Amino acid sequence: MLVDTHCHLTYVGLAEQQETVVRRAAAAGVQRMITIGAHPADHPPALRTAEKFPEVFAALGIHPQHAHEAGADYIAPLRAAITANRRVVAVGECGLDYHHESAPADLQKRAFLAQLGLADQLHKPVILHVRDAHADALAIMRDFQHLSFVVHCFSGTPQEVRQWIELGAYIGFTGIITYKNAADVRAACHLVPSNRLLVETDAPYLSPQPVRKIKTNEPVFVTHVARQVAVERGITFEEAAQITTCNAHRLFGLDVPCAT
Ligand SMILES: [Zn+2]
Ligand SMILES: [Zn+2]
Repeated sequence: MLVDTHCHLTYVGLAEQQETVVRRAAAAGVQRMITIGAHPADHPPALRTAEKFPEVFAALGIHPQHAHEAGADYIAPLRAAITANRRVVAVGECGLDYHHESAPADLQKRAFLAQLGLADQLHKPVILHVRDAHADALAIMRDFQHLSFVVHCFSGTPQEVRQWIELGAYIGFTGIITYKNAADVRAACHLVPSNRLLVETDAPYLSPQPVRKIKTNEPVFVTHVARQVAVERGITFEEAAQITTCNAHRLFGLDVPCAT
């Protein structure tokens, strides 16, 4: 079994074909997926998707690129949506993204801190989105080391992954690990302890190299990510699947088999 720990089944490209996509994933062994509600308007469809499919769970948060759209009081409804629904397994994605400066950095930081506070109160794990902002995100997370969290879609350097590991982070790898120009990400994968390793697609984005021609990525393709992780770490595909599934179980409390 594999778990796609981060996808966007509500986004254009996947929303229109959810049934097919979930069935295709499950048939290939990708039997659990976490779909992300990335902004307030995205939360209701993410919840509906998680309620509709037993394979799908949800995480709700404000993506840093949407920090400026969240409005004045988004934390109260976010708290209500998370606590009211048993299929919500995490807060996020939230974090810092200086690559796309659609939202100013100060707003991103404020929204990030508010969501970390919420996760702390609710005892939920956090899904972090960090792009071109590792130093600032690390500085913030040093005050929240007691939280369980994943740095999703890791795209940093070996040095940065070391710093995240010191804070106890889980590290999520996407199709980026299969790209020719991603030597740093592959090197980072070598440094992650087995009990901190996760795989994801971030679909509909980032189709892995073997299917890069297929523009709309989907959860079934997390198999390609796991295969590359196995190659990097010198383990079998089955071992990579088992390790990452166990980690998803531990971090998100998913109902998946895990012997450890
Ligand atoms: Zn993200
Ligand atoms: Zn995402």
